[in-house]
Amino acid sequence: MLKLLKEILRSGEATVQYPFAPLEVCKDFRGKPEHDAELCIACAACTVACPPNAIQMETDTAAGTRTWSINYGRCVFCGRCEESCPTGAIRLSADFELAVGNKADLTRKAVFTLAECACCGKAFAPAKEVDYVARLLGQSARNQEEADRLRLTVSTCPECKRKQDAHQVARMEIDRQLGRQLETTP
Ligand code: SF4
Ligand code: SF4
Repeated sequence: MLKLLKEILRSGEATVQYPFAPLEVCKDFRGKPEHDAELCIACAACTVACPPNAIQMETDTAAGTRTWSINYGRCVFCGRCEESCPTGAIRLSADFELAVGNKADLTRKAVFTLAECACCGKAFAPAKEVDYVARLLGQSARNQEEADRLRLTVSTCPECKRKQDAHQVARMEIDRQLGRQLETTP
C-alpha cells in the first residue's frame, strides 16, 4: 500500500482540471480563426483557400456591398485562411470552446463597401481592396503622376478597362494604316 501511495505521489496528477480550470494548449494549436474586419480588405483570398467553404463572400452591386462571412460549424481548423491572407486579418487563435445553443451563432459577418468605377460609376470591387492595391503599386511608381495613373487604372472596372484596351488597339491599328499610306504615297 505504501509503495502504491509513493508511486501515486511520484507520478503526480494524471488528469487535468479542465473545465474547472483553463486548459493550456500548445504553441501551434489550431483553434478558432479570428477575423479582424479593420485589417480585412475583402479580397476573397481566404474564401478561395478554405477547403470546406466555411468562409464565403456575397457581393451585392445594387446595394454596393460585399459581405464576408465565416461559419465555424464548417471550419476544420486547417489554417489555410491565415496562410492566404495578405493583410493578417484572419488568424487561428487558441480558442476551442465553440459550442453554442443556436446554430446561427456559429456564423460571423462583416460588410464592406464597394468602390465605384472611375469611368462608368458602377460598383465593382471592395473600396478597401482598391485602395490597398493602389497604395502597393504607388510604392513602386517613379513619381506622383505615375502613382495617380496607376490608381486610376486600379479604380477602373474590368469592363471599362476592356473597352479602353479595345480603343487603344483600334487607334494603334489606324496609326499603323496611316503610316503605311504615307510611306506609299509618292
Ligand atoms: S481554418 Fe481552414 S476550414 Fe477553417 S476557415 Fe480557415 S481555411 Fe476554412
Ligand atoms: S484573405 Fe484576409 S483580407 Fe482577404 S478577405 Fe480574407 S480575411 Fe479579408
